[in-house]
Amino acid sequence: VLSTVCLLFLVIATFAGHVLAGRAIIPIKNSFSRQREFVADASHELRTPLSVMLSSVDAIRTDDENKFSTFSEQVLDDMKSEIKRMTKIVADLLTLARADAGATNLFKEKFDINNVAEKVIRSFQPVAAEKGIKLEFVGTNNLFIQADRERINQLFLILIDNALKFIQHEGAVILTVKQVTGSKRTVNIIVQDNGQGIPEDQQQLIFERFYRIDKARSRDAGGTGLGLSIAKWIVEAHGGTIKVESSVGVGSTFIVSLPS
Ligand code: ADP
Repeated sequence: VLSTVCLLFLVIATFAGHVLAGRAIIPIKNSFSRQREFVADASHELRTPLSVMLSSVDAIRTDDENKFSTFSEQVLDDMKSEIKRMTKIVADLLTLARADAGATNLFKEKFDINNVAEKVIRSFQPVAAEKGIKLEFVGTNNLFIQADRERINQLFLILIDNALKFIQHEGAVILTVKQVTGSKRTVNIIVQDNGQGIPEDQQQLIFERFYRIDKARSRDAGGTGLGLSIAKWIVEAHGGTIKVESSVGVGSTFIVSLPS
């Protein structure tokens, strides 16, 4: 009898637990989704005033009738670069808020990944040359993938920008795209640098929002701390994976695997 009572009690307790947990979760879910909507709306609303501010500063700066002291010119230039930085943060936040809400559709098409990679490499060559960095691309002929071209372009931009940002001076960055050996349906995107490297205990944390190993350095380099979170979202939205292998003082290698 005792064991039957115990069993009955257990069943009732489990059932009650499920019901209560379910009830508790619904308001939490609602509050998360309200928070996501708020971030998306706020980011969206901030874009217009920011772009008005940017063009206003530009207009003041380029108006021939204005005679500014060197100091004032510097202040205006600083304002301009801060507005640009904020515009980037707002755009990144909006991307992530939309991704969280599942409101970002992927527009998949079939394309040769070499074309996108080559274009990104070309656009970064002047920055690399300025820093004395050798920027190299190793492609594989006719490597077609079914993916959102714009998002893959954004993924390349984030990874190459970081690789160039976190090399002190001189060095090399290599972008490789290739088919995974033994799997015709998986493509690897590998970005290797010989920069400062990432301590082992922080290699997972860097994919979290706003996480930066050196906040001041990232900020000076124009970083928002949201790049790798967006990269991770892009890769996972395509059903792929992203990881990093790194040693401090030796360099870092970001390895993306994408279904083709
Ligand atoms: P950020 O805008 O600061 O680049 P990310 O989310 O792209 O933000 O990266 C987060 C942090 O990860 C960076 O601030 C930096 O500390 C570290 N990191 C990313 N890529 C590299 C790299 N190639 N080498 C060294 N550190 C890196």
